[in-house]
Amino acid sequence: MGQDVIKCNHTIMKKMKDYYKEGMINRNIPSSFFVAKSNGCTITAYNSGKVLFQGSTSEEEANKWRGGSDTNKKSQKKKANHKTTVLDHEYLPPSNIQDLSIIGSDEVGTGDYFGPITVAAVYTRPSDYKYLTSLGVKDSKQLTDSLIQQIAKEVLPYITYSLLILTNEKYNLLQKQGYSQGKMKAVLHNQAIQNVMTKLDGQSFDGILVDQFAKPNIYFNYLKDEDRVVKETIYFQTKAESVHLSVAVASIIARHAFLKEMDRLSEDIGVTLPKGAGAHVDQAAASIIKINGLKSLNHIAKLHFANTKKAQNLL
Ligand code: MG
Repeated sequence: MGQDVIKCNHTIMKKMKDYYKEGMINRNIPSSFFVAKSNGCTITAYNSGKVLFQGSTSEEEANKWRGGSDTNKKSQKKKANHKTTVLDHEYLPPSNIQDLSIIGSDEVGTGDYFGPITVAAVYTRPSDYKYLTSLGVKDSKQLTDSLIQQIAKEVLPYITYSLLILTNEKYNLLQKQGYSQGKMKAVLHNQAIQNVMTKLDGQSFDGILVDQFAKPNIYFNYLKDEDRVVKETIYFQTKAESVHLSVAVASIIARHAFLKEMDRLSEDIGVTLPKGAGAHVDQAAASIIKINGLKSLNHIAKLHFANTKKAQNLL
């Protein structure tokens, strides 16, 4: 039996649903948008934008929709890009994502020896766009730390969000229990997203966008032991803060929390803790070990990083 898969945006999916309306069949397939039979082909469209064509005419049927709404010659290049993204993975966001209400999530602190991991999930609607950009919201990598703190203070009272902080003590404990950092991140994202869904209390949203830190199959594998995993209308894309404002806000909130925690930990230990994981961090860790002992690092650092060994070697 022939089989063909394409990926398309919500507008095209709706057109498809209308096109195949005569052949709609009632099948309880999880996360499906519709199932239909037409022209000797079974068409299963998923909320993720993936559409599966099965049957002897699968290719012919799928070709009707290939390239989506791009029908003019100028869009040939766009089509080529579309093909490569299809090969990437099936959880890429639809092209009209900016017009959708989205829960976006991002994390900060994963590459820093000192300080926690912070994860934020944020809900924004297209109608929030004007106000949020007027506050200066954009890709946090283009913002200074002091601007991030200023913007976060104004944004926080306005939006629906969840912020999770994985302290160093908890991080080190999970790491000893065999959690990879990827697994910790997946658990935190999944939890933060659920928290926002709960806060929305039935208010509708069109999808979820995770700033991709692992391929979706790996992300879901990390979550295989979790009681509840959000899988419906979830999208993954790298550099997602430039794709949807919800992720840009999430990155600002996560960064804001990380900076606040770094200040707090610096105060606790009596030293201004440096960011990153470079040689200056080894130096700082060495002087902390010298004054407070190796055990004091459990409260402020991610112990399994090579910096711990390097700092000890400096002494
Ligand atoms: Mg990120």
